[in-house]
Amino acid sequence: MTLITLDKQIGKLPKKIKFCKNCVVSNQRPRTDINSDGICSACVWSYEKNYKIDWKIREKELKDLLDKHRKSNGEFDIVVPSSGGKDSAFVAHQLKHKYGMTPVCVTWAPAEWSYIGRKNLEAFTKSGYYTIASIHDGVIHRKLCTLGFEYLGQPFAPFIYGQKAFPYHIANQLNISLIMYGENGELEYGGSTKYKYQSHESPDDWQEFYFKGTTVGKMVDIGYQRGFFKKDETKSEYFKYYKAPDANIISEKKIEMHWFSYFKKWIPQENYYYGCKFTDFRANDFGRSEGSYTKYASLDDKLDGLSFYLSYIKFGLGRASRDAQQDIRMYHITRDEGVRLVQLYDGEFPKKYFQWYLDYLNINEDFFFEVIDFYRNLSNVWEKRGHKWNLKYIVK
Ligand SMILES: [Zn+2]
Repeated sequence: MTLITLDKQIGKLPKKIKFCKNCVVSNQRPRTDINSDGICSACVWSYEKNYKIDWKIREKELKDLLDKHRKSNGEFDIVVPSSGGKDSAFVAHQLKHKYGMTPVCVTWAPAEWSYIGRKNLEAFTKSGYYTIASIHDGVIHRKLCTLGFEYLGQPFAPFIYGQKAFPYHIANQLNISLIMYGENGELEYGGSTKYKYQSHESPDDWQEFYFKGTTVGKMVDIGYQRGFFKKDETKSEYFKYYKAPDANIISEKKIEMHWFSYFKKWIPQENYYYGCKFTDFRANDFGRSEGSYTKYASLDDKLDGLSFYLSYIKFGLGRASRDAQQDIRMYHITRDEGVRLVQLYDGEFPKKYFQWYLDYLNINEDFFFEVIDFYRNLSNVWEKRGHKWNLKYIVK
């Protein structure tokens, strides 16, 4: 079978690879610019975040926003998308206990919870957060994950669709006009700086920034053509939760989303300590995550490891790179330490759940590696010598 991709961003990446001189990211991370001084957009932002932004003014903006939406009758007045992880623990706890809001937390379930992910969500709710969880139609979600793996090089794609869209549906159903997401990932970790000085985006931005140019509708069409979905399955009402509500509804109900990271300095490692203290968050009990040196980020889903591995395949930037980029920017480690950690761990194969990936995606091992090599071949970062693939450049 000839493989094709619907990932619209991979072909747009610069052919000439450049690494940031301050951190370990390269210009292969989509929408990440490296300026004439050799510094990436996320490091430029990090400098501003640490030294230029007046966070007292930003907090005043937050208080004004919350005052506008606060309800005094005990009803929920803010939606907090939450996995039970460290970041949503920070956002929900601050909103409830520091700013007196009444949050309803909203969880879009992973493909399959890891043990620690499930435990953290339970601990989070036990610490006082009413949470509405969308548990998938396992047949449909699984087929979307398989299509995501093949057509986008990202089995996580249906999670990303719903994680963005589902909170809007709950806001609409409960007549809540404010949704508070955690961080503007494009700004914090590298990507578009379109909303550098703005606290919000619109669902119109999702396709380009998060969906690799391909909506769930397109995935369902492909799934139907390929025989993954039967005609009646494609009409399932459940698909609506992978898409934002109609723009007219959002506008009529004046539903707004904002990023907490616009108002409060975003430091992932601090969120980890905060979550441990206030919502009984726990890191991996088996130590560092495969592919990295950390143990507290992106733990919820058994697919997490594969998702990071595919980022390594497509962009040459895996899980250790992602963690080191952030830790360097926040002065937790030096660039030299980051480089060594990337060289040690980035691209470590996620073997812990490998058999589970094959079972869950309903594919065999040969096809798995066929897709991996297809994306290596599309990327700018690999070359094949004989039968062996090598990265063209390694950060140093
Ligand atoms: Zn950088």
